[in-house]
Amino acid sequence: MKLKILWMYHDLMDLYGDKGNIEVLRRRAEKRGIECIVDTCTLNEEKKISDYDLFFLGGGADREQQLIYKDLLGRRAGIQEAMDSGTAFLLICGGYQLFGKYYKDQDGNVLESLGFFDYYTVASDRDHRCIGNIALEATIDGDTFRMVGFENHGGQTHDVATPLGKVLSGHGNTYQSSFEGFQNDQVIATYMHGPLLPKNPMAADKIIKRALKRNYGETELAPLDDTLELKAQEVMLKRLKVI
Ligand code: GLN
Repeated sequence: MKLKILWMYHDLMDLYGDKGNIEVLRRRAEKRGIECIVDTCTLNEEKKISDYDLFFLGGGADREQQLIYKDLLGRRAGIQEAMDSGTAFLLICGGYQLFGKYYKDQDGNVLESLGFFDYYTVASDRDHRCIGNIALEATIDGDTFRMVGFENHGGQTHDVATPLGKVLSGHGNTYQSSFEGFQNDQVIATYMHGPLLPKNPMAADKIIKRALKRNYGETELAPLDDTLELKAQEVMLKRLKVI
């Protein structure tokens, strides 16, 4: 079995360890004998996105979003083609925002976004940035579990029809939101850095399964020993008084 990952704007969109998500996906695949190929793609570089099983885009501050958004918009048809071909998507923070209708930054600049989904994001004032550790209860592909991460965003994301999860502690899509992120059956989008996947092995495996689906259908993944990962998650859940 083979898993092909496209890591978009690896050199620009990488906040609070987002790159660690790639390492987790690679390790969890390889431990199961799945060959994992990771290619990167940055500004002005041609790549056929539909050749990939997983599209990963990390977060970035407003400056990096400014730098990449036109290049990203130029790839809209290629991204649509990948969606149609069954590619799975993992989008973090700034990447999540750019798949909605638009992102309006603190100075009032509007970054037109890909518009695949109906949500839109407007930056808050400096006193209402969503910063800190966060815990959720998420249901992904029929399984419900807790997730933890770290958020730091001014952007307030509205009109999310299908969030990733319910906030147990922290902010989420807006300063006082009770929901966080976005999902559909191909896309998982979240404000959670940390990076996201090391402390959320269930979510990592859901993403691997989604990515394998277009070539191999529904696959069962051999269980791994997640004692340390779950211990790390538990420490955060306790710190946030969720358990
Ligand atoms: N610039 C965006 C915001 O502050 C995204 C930040 C991020 O990716 N952490 O809302």
